[in-house]
Amino acid sequence: MVWIIPCNLKKYDLIRAFENYDFIYWHKSKQLAKSQPGDIVYIYCGQPYQKIVYRCKIEKIVKRDVELDVDFDKAFWKNERDYILNKKYEEFLKIKQVDWVNTESLKLNYLIDNGLKKAPQGPMKLENKPKLLDYIKRSVNEYKNKIYRETEMNEVTKLLEGKEMEQLILRRERNIKARDRAIELHGVSCSVCGVNFEDIYGELGKNFIEIHHIKPISNQKGEYEINPEKDLIPVCSNCHSMLHRQINGENVSVEKLKEIVLERKNRRKL
Ligand SMILES: [Zn+2]
Ligand SMILES: [Zn+2]
Repeated sequence: MVWIIPCNLKKYDLIRAFENYDFIYWHKSKQLAKSQPGDIVYIYCGQPYQKIVYRCKIEKIVKRDVELDVDFDKAFWKNERDYILNKKYEEFLKIKQVDWVNTESLKLNYLIDNGLKKAPQGPMKLENKPKLLDYIKRSVNEYKNKIYRETEMNEVTKLLEGKEMEQLILRRERNIKARDRAIELHGVSCSVCGVNFEDIYGELGKNFIEIHHIKPISNQKGEYEINPEKDLIPVCSNCHSMLHRQINGENVSVEKLKEIVLERKNRRKL
């Protein structure tokens, strides 16, 4: 069987949960009564994503009191009340993350174009919706292929073994994830000058923003974990260009650039 399960990120921080574990425990509600190990689960994330973000598999079904340490994901619940409510369920599905996908095609409006009635309110079976299921499968595959091709193209000068290629794809996926996360945490207005593209360009500018790495990537030796909260900031295209220019051989810092912008703004007012 194939399912869509919606997740309200305002209640449960699924993104962070999947950053820390490759599985989660999901309460087996009435709608999920017929779910079984081996079933595929697409997880639909609400605001600000409004799209299917994960393809997962039900690994097993566990009884709360026997197998599950219910406290293990307490940190990902946004408030105590929801956490306690969730603890009341008898059974939980151990859901393992198989694929992470980041594609516009899995956004709500496209899902609706392909047979979904409205934003999913609770878990639903996809069995009787072959068109929608087919569309989702195809979108996931297209996304995986796209990532593969792009990674391959960027690395075309190096000859890579399969293993290295896999690592490269993983790193690329991690970077896109970190970027999405930064937008979720910091919003889409420029951290330096405050500009918001939607304010200026309307619908066209909606959700557009560039992401600046506070620690330059080229300074990092080998692997390093990006912390979207501290290392990445949203900036408009102008401020981003300025952040990559230099004064006396040094890049201007975010704080310094803010000062410059503010000072000149105030001067214009006088
Ligand atoms: Zn700016
Ligand atoms: Zn930058």
